[in-house]
Amino acid sequence: MGVESEFQKMADVSKIRKFKDAADYTKRFVVQEEIDKYLPGGRHFIDEAEINRCITDVAEKPVDPARVREIIAKSESTCETLLPEETAVLMSASSDPALFEEMCAAAGRIKKKVYDNRIVVFAPLYMSNLCVNGCRYCGFREGNDQQKRRVLTMDELKEEIDVLAGRIGHKRLIAVYGEHPTTSTEYIAETIETCYNRQVKAPKTGAPVGIRRVNVNAAPLPVEDLKVLKSVGIGTFQVFQETYNRKLYESMHPSWSVKGNYDWRTTCFHRCMEAGVDDVGLGVLYGLCDWRFELLATVMHARDLERWFNIGPHTLSFPRLEPASGTKVPEESPWLIDDDTFAKIVVIARLSVPYTGIIITARESPESRNRILGCGMTQLDCSSNIAIKGYSDFADEAHQEKDRQQFMLGDNRSIDEMVRYLASRGTITSFCTAGYRCGRTGGCIMDALKTGREGKFCKINAVLTFREWLDDFASDETRRIGDALIEKELAEIREWVPKFYPSVIKQYEATCRGERDLFF
Ligand code: SAM
Ligand code: SF4
Repeated sequence: MGVESEFQKMADVSKIRKFKDAADYTKRFVVQEEIDKYLPGGRHFIDEAEINRCITDVAEKPVDPARVREIIAKSESTCETLLPEETAVLMSASSDPALFEEMCAAAGRIKKKVYDNRIVVFAPLYMSNLCVNGCRYCGFREGNDQQKRRVLTMDELKEEIDVLAGRIGHKRLIAVYGEHPTTSTEYIAETIETCYNRQVKAPKTGAPVGIRRVNVNAAPLPVEDLKVLKSVGIGTFQVFQETYNRKLYESMHPSWSVKGNYDWRTTCFHRCMEAGVDDVGLGVLYGLCDWRFELLATVMHARDLERWFNIGPHTLSFPRLEPASGTKVPEESPWLIDDDTFAKIVVIARLSVPYTGIIITARESPESRNRILGCGMTQLDCSSNIAIKGYSDFADEAHQEKDRQQFMLGDNRSIDEMVRYLASRGTITSFCTAGYRCGRTGGCIMDALKTGREGKFCKINAVLTFREWLDDFASDETRRIGDALIEKELAEIREWVPKFYPSVIKQYEATCRGERDLFF
């Protein structure tokens, strides 16, 4: 089938590891014992019958407002993951405008308690679009002749970093990879190291700048490979489930493809935890299936990770199907969702997994992202370009080319515009990457998040990194608005930790003088 042609194409490019054919590749990358270990007795933690029961018996039935308020209160006070049935109650309540308003307000309060008034920014960086899989909704799928294929070389990657870190000012990336023998573990590890090692000078101050955290979105890997990524300092490992509905999953991912194995994908994060990669990012490709099914399954997935490891998802992502080259699935799926439903999903997710980070990408329109800013979002990307080598090839940041990218972006705002917009809403843009560099990841951070302690740490680090970015990159107008916000933030910190405040100010003043990468 189609995969074979990809194996032929790679014959001369693969300096890394040779595979005879697709079966050989699958044998190496799908390890049955590593699936079975986390599905004891063959029982899957995604209990489809229970999900369907929650939908028909709870989400589709009227609810008692008192019960809804009880669940909201539980979420807010404990910050613990809800039971699927409780999430289903919120789903039902979300069609009542007054109750939904209460849910939105609570989602905003929880976000503030756990993450304070900050939004973390990052950029996607596509490393390669070679892929051996046949996902029916994706422009990168094997056999799509409309897609121009390429893999970044390390020199090209350095050029991308020069723009991302040196011109835009990003510190945090999500590196994205198709699934292919030439771009598997060794390539991923090499690209992560290259990102960390590249240092450039900031345009306004000449200060040294670089990438401080590389998160990865790639195919599921065996434990042995995950340990390699851990050893080079991977941040969060993201793998989107696409859909938790097994039957639909199998119809979207052909059985000849590596990705066709539902159990391998759903057990990926269990393996991550085993390998010590304890910041994991879950996601669903909304629009493929009933959103209620997906969100209930996400809650079950989070609960199973908590049950095994006492650590839940570091982040949840909410990609929505977007138009892509050579496929009609994104236009024709019967489950596409509108902006109102999208907002509901985010609010219910915030209440259901209160401690988790919520990432809303530039797939969304500016209106959609602006709308849900106060309802639980914690991370967004901006100045994004998802063409392979797009940052260094296109001086115009908003430029897009359908045949060079996986799908089309909806929000092309530059970082300067985004920072200004966020500041106008009293939100500080954080470039902080301290948590992961101080070992505040996985289990170490769970309690701190749930009790709101981490949010306070982050506020201080947000101020320091915001100061860096304003001095190194901001336009005059953005800097003016940002300066005023920092004054306000510092006043809050002084009130909150008067004894600690002198240490904060010391670091802040050093940052103003040009010292970089100071954090708590
Ligand atoms: N190849 C790896 C995999 O599939 O797991 C990781 C990278 S893939 C490029 C990243 C994600 O893009 C996929 O997991 C999927 O959720 C998302 N994606 C694919 N096609 C899309 C589309 N048409 N619109 C929006 N997101 C899409
Ligand atoms: Fe390949 Fe990932 Fe696209 Fe599927 S979603 S075709 S695995 S890049």
